[in-house]
Amino acid sequence: MSQTKIPVLDLKPQYESIKGEIQTAINRVIESGQFIMGPDVKAFEQEVAAYLGVKYAIGVNSGTDALVIGLRAAGIGEGDEVITTPFSFFATAESISNVGAKVVFADIDGSTYNIDPQQIRDKISSRTKAIIPVHLYGQPAAMGQIMEIAQEYGLRVIEDCAQSFGARYDGQAVGTIGDVGAFSFFPSKNLGGYGDGGMIVTDDEQIAEVAGMLRVHGAKKKYHNEVLGYNSRLDTIQAAILRVKLQYIDKWNQGRRRVAVVYNRLLADVEGVVTPGLAEGHVFHQYTVRVTGGKRDGVKDYLTEQGIGSMIYYPIPQDQLPVYKGQYEACPVSDLAAQEVLSLPIWPELEEDAIEKVVDVLEEGLS
Ligand SMILES: *Cc1c(COP(=O)(O)O)cnc(C)c1O
Repeated sequence: MSQTKIPVLDLKPQYESIKGEIQTAINRVIESGQFIMGPDVKAFEQEVAAYLGVKYAIGVNSGTDALVIGLRAAGIGEGDEVITTPFSFFATAESISNVGAKVVFADIDGSTYNIDPQQIRDKISSRTKAIIPVHLYGQPAAMGQIMEIAQEYGLRVIEDCAQSFGARYDGQAVGTIGDVGAFSFFPSKNLGGYGDGGMIVTDDEQIAEVAGMLRVHGAKKKYHNEVLGYNSRLDTIQAAILRVKLQYIDKWNQGRRRVAVVYNRLLADVEGVVTPGLAEGHVFHQYTVRVTGGKRDGVKDYLTEQGIGSMIYYPIPQDQLPVYKGQYEACPVSDLAAQEVLSLPIWPELEEDAIEKVVDVLEEGLS
């Protein structure tokens, strides 16, 4: 068999399709000389707010900072408990710890890999102040039930939307359902810049005001610092790049969905592989299957040998990471997912013959 290499992610076809526009945008910023909080930052914030259907959007330096600043702006800090999923990138739990609150893990639903609302209920205490659902792999969490719980107990909801720009739950953009939405523009995300970037969105005027202050050293007025903040601005060049890319996000998200549909069709009858559901509004940041029967690592090694990229998101659940190990009771559904998940190559332009090739090699690896 010929060795056509297929990486897990290829950003080049996308760049080729918008190269001229990107270079014009970058040059515009350089020519203007307004590198910090230039006009493109404000314009991008307004465009994101309009796209998502939310009142306020505040550009920050990363998705991680969007979570940290979002939590603080929502009034979460020392002595508070925040319930989140163990099955996410460490930035989710790290942000809670970094604002001085206690992380509480609630296990996931094994079919969506998202936090299980019933498990949230079981973890609520008198100290619980907020929930951070993560829309993992681009699939909206069970926001209907999560918002019901939040209302019942008076909790804040901060949505971790790092993997889900443009995803919708019941027709509503994720990030606009809870009190705060935190987005990442890390290059590999669905809406990715060419460097770090993030955004906080909210309909709450006070949260927006505090977040806007925290991103610039805690000052509403320059040199009149009121609280301890951060240097966490969205870079103007990144904002200019992201303004170009925002125009294509629906097309690209549809492209990802098309890839997922093809994978699901080709993998439908493959024994030992569990395909993801095609939930409405899922934007397939990752296309992630479960490889059952203890075969996942063998399959991954075989794919690698054959030049096919794949990734494990995430090999170690957050509660099992060295930083937290031994502090929490087990989350068995999350633990099993960590042993079985495998994310396959996906990007909007990925062609059908490449998808077929990935599936063929995966099937070889299973036998
Ligand atoms: C990428 C990611 C983050 C962090 O975003 P950065 O921009 O890299 O700081 C947070 N949460 C999740 C679920 C992510 O995938």
